[in-house]
Amino acid sequence: MQPKVIIHGGAGYSLQDKGGLEAVRGSLRGIVQQIYARLLHGDGALSAAAFGCRLLEDEPRFNAGTGSVLQADGQIRMSASLMDGQSQRLSGVINVSRIKNPVDLATWLQTCPDRVLSDAGAAELARELQLPIHNPLTELRLGEWMEERKGNFQRSMAGVVAESGRGTIGVVVLDQQGHLAAGTSTGGKGFERIGRVSDSAMPAGNYASEIAAISCTGIGEDIIDESLASRIVIRVTDGFSLLEAFDKSFQEAAKRQRDFGAIGLDHQGEIAWGKNCDVLLAAYHDGDRIDDTLELPTGLQVGVASQG
Ligand code: ASP
Repeated sequence: MQPKVIIHGGAGYSLQDKGGLEAVRGSLRGIVQQIYARLLHGDGALSAAAFGCRLLEDEPRFNAGTGSVLQADGQIRMSASLMDGQSQRLSGVINVSRIKNPVDLATWLQTCPDRVLSDAGAAELARELQLPIHNPLTELRLGEWMEERKGNFQRSMAGVVAESGRGTIGVVVLDQQGHLAAGTSTGGKGFERIGRVSDSAMPAGNYASEIAAISCTGIGEDIIDESLASRIVIRVTDGFSLLEAFDKSFQEAAKRQRDFGAIGLDHQGEIAWGKNCDVLLAAYHDGDRIDDTLELPTGLQVGVASQG
């Protein structure tokens, strides 16, 4: 089967804080190419999704792994999950600190009886696996936090997030065997309360079955309230096309003024995206070409790769 991949580097209101259109395009397309090469080489869906998440976590432009945003107390706590469509199994970590690639823990947890670990448990696993200590903080993120600190975090959370925070990453792949997987990793919304749990390590934000796979980005609370990733996958399982499932789910979300984006694939190789914010930082390889969603009109949009 012709492999496919779609990735995202978050959603929001502007590309400026991520280095501008061409820089974001270059990063996303370069990573899509590397994941696609792995898929052509015969990598399975889960391993290709984990590989892609690692590359995106290592790109400081995006809010995951290195370059994660700081929480209200100035600390970085990251969350990541992987879902294998064939086994329909989710694994992940919530609010883990001081490691380079949270997705590595999610990969390891795929075959464990306890598959989602939070802060202390995730730290203990990182120790057990002897993962080196890594500080994911960048100058840029520290500067953003210091700026906000000056104003004693007076601006609304949504405003702050729109300007700097969003940039969670996600990868959805279909491998040569026709198997799907999804991975999502985040530093969170930015400036959140200690202990706040992101959607990225929940089926609401990252979900896959044999039929479809989805990764979400945006305000985690909105994604959780819509149960967005699992909602879209279940619609496809029940007979909607992927585009119809995106369309209905995003129309419903618009009525509730939700603020997020999502990318997805189905088992027939259809690639889709949706957003109700201004920009969705997504790029894909459909077997013939690489394209992206960086210049879509603002506001509600859903689409499939065949329509460009
Ligand atoms: N969904 C993430 C969260 O709320 C943030 C993001 O996608 O940028 O934790």
